[in-house]
Formats: sequence, structure tokens, C-alpha cells
Amino acid sequence: MKSFRKELFFNTSKRFELINITHDVENAIIESGVKEGFCLVNAMHITASVFINDDEHGLHADYFRWLEELAPHEPLSLYKHNNTGEDNGDAHLKRQIMGRSVTVAITNGKLDFGPWEQIFYGEFDGRRRKRVLVKIIGE
Ligand code: ZN
Repeated sequence: MKSFRKELFFNTSKRFELINITHDVENAIIESGVKEGFCLVNAMHITASVFINDDEHGLHADYFRWLEELAPHEPLSLYKHNNTGEDNGDAHLKRQIMGRSVTVAITNGKLDFGPWEQIFYGEFDGRRRKRVLVKIIGE
């Protein structure tokens, strides 16, 4: 069995951003040489997510509106977590609902997706360097 590990790096210009990382994951699978196996992709920060959905601008705007309704960034005083001196209480909650990781089957050297599935990095407290782990096992 082969095992392959890679980190992807992000430093978004905005606090909230959704980035399609499907091609980065596909490239990691090619690098790994794995044809049959599994690929785990996870955010290595507690204010960012990795999730699978459609690459459609209206949907991404809906995510932004929905997440801001659930956990608005302001007022900062809304969150006890911000009493620590941080300002990212909302980002922790957004990460929780959008998830930490995805696992995708690899078949014939490719991501074995359903229709329209794409992998996204969800950034909720950006403007600093953050990482995503890609771990691939198989043969
Ligand atoms: Zn925090």
C-alpha cells in the first residue's frame, strides 16, 4: 500500500472566501501514483473548512448569507470567545457547520465524484497563511 502526504497553503485577501481546490487534489493524486484508494482532505485550522458541493456563484453567495445569518461576524461582543482578545468567534462556528474534512474514493487514478461534486476550501478568518492536508492511501 502506498501512502502520500501533501500540504496546500492559502492566504486569502478577504476574511471569508470559498476556493475550489479540486485541481490541487487531483494533482496530489497524480503525484501519489495511487490508482485505487482513498483521499482525505482536511483543513488544519479551526476557523476553516473543507467541503464538497457545486461550483456555482449563486450557491456560494447563499452560503455567505446563510452563514452570516447563523453566525454574523459583528457585533464582536456577541461571542464569549472574543473575550480572549480574538475577533473570530463567528469563524469557529462557521467552520463547525461546514465541516473539517472530506474523504473521496479514488478509482482508476481519479476522484470518484457524483454529478457536479467539487472540493472547496472554506475560509472564515483569512488574511493569514493557513494549510490544508491531503492524505492519500491505496495502491
Ligand atoms: Zn478563535
